[in-house]
Amino acid sequence: MEHPMEPHFATRAVHVGREDFASLGVHAPPIDLSSTYPTPDLDAAARSFDSLVVGDQPQGSFVYQRLFNPTTDRFERGLAALEGAEDAAAFGSGMAALTATLLAAKSRGAHVVAVRPMYGTADHLLTSGLLGMTVTWTTQDAVGTAIQADTGLVIIETPANPTIALVDIAHVVRQAGAVPVLVDSTFATPVLQRPMEQGAALVIHSATKFLGGHGDVLAGVVAGAHALVRDIKHVRAATGGLLHPMGSYLLHRGLPTLSVRIERAQATAGVLAQQLVGDDRIAEVRYPSLPGQDPRGLLGTQMHGAGSVLSFQLADRDPAKLRAFVAALRLITPAVSLGSTDTLIQPPALLTHRVVNEDARRAAGIASGLLRLSVGLEDSRDLWRDLEQALEVVGAH
Ligand code: PLP
Repeated sequence: MEHPMEPHFATRAVHVGREDFASLGVHAPPIDLSSTYPTPDLDAAARSFDSLVVGDQPQGSFVYQRLFNPTTDRFERGLAALEGAEDAAAFGSGMAALTATLLAAKSRGAHVVAVRPMYGTADHLLTSGLLGMTVTWTTQDAVGTAIQADTGLVIIETPANPTIALVDIAHVVRQAGAVPVLVDSTFATPVLQRPMEQGAALVIHSATKFLGGHGDVLAGVVAGAHALVRDIKHVRAATGGLLHPMGSYLLHRGLPTLSVRIERAQATAGVLAQQLVGDDRIAEVRYPSLPGQDPRGLLGTQMHGAGSVLSFQLADRDPAKLRAFVAALRLITPAVSLGSTDTLIQPPALLTHRVVNEDARRAAGIASGLLRLSVGLEDSRDLWRDLEQALEVVGAH
């Protein structure tokens, strides 16, 4: 909840992580690329090392980049503030952030409860047992019954990739009891949704997506209370994965324009969703603001807008038509990833979610012909024209 005297979100997004600029005499964040730091006072350096290695703050020297970097720390503090969290930890990818979060949770218990669908590789990481953890897949209404004595974490993703289904965070938090709930809020960003306000313990982003926003950074970030983020930073210090300062700089650079980008892309996605629904060559458009697609009434409460990712199928289910349609697009780029300035499209069953077991994929609503569209900042008329000409090329009917 925003405090009545506090600047509004968009204002804070412009200024976070810049509080010391006047005293530094700078107008843009300084970038510190040092991989190591001088330690002339060895005892002081040893004290700082002891602090950093368990995920605490530096005590003087930063010692070594894997342990701490001021440019990354600046972005982390900014993102944490926007999420309403005490702290955040940034990583070289969303999957690195999830891995460290899972390993930190393992000290509480090696069992995870998770709701499908979620990003394909996250599903794979949990299902494969690669980290020596087990998972119970469930629905948002059955989280409570899936919790075991050794459950260390509950994981949900909302909106979910790629079906854009919404999960009721507060409902899941209530069922989880004392078990921390991690929310992947990549599709929403703090502009549209702040899971901590719904009781989540941790919020994670593939910062590669909207936070970066320009398709040129691979990064992840997880935010939450000091104690939980400290444990995650402890894992990060030991296993590596701290986000490179150039990536951190680019992410921090993106925060002031985040609201503008999200709102503009969302407006365009809303227009396209309506046009797709009204076209008989298209079937099963999924977008939370369409009639019947938000049965729990989460839009306007948990989430302030439907976002800019939607999915749909061609009415003609011929797989050859799907391939021809994607190949015929001229403006929209066929590519995985999302949240960039330009519009991207991909069939999750063939690419991002191919690592998910086929039955599980189907049960989660990821049909083989589903196309996920991440709407960018182009004019909606040009995007619609491109979709239409591709439909005409393939003779979809
Ligand atoms: N979470 C979601 C919702 C994603 O869409 C992705 C990637 O597409 C990830 C996590 C993984 O992030 P990264 O690709 O940055 O490792």
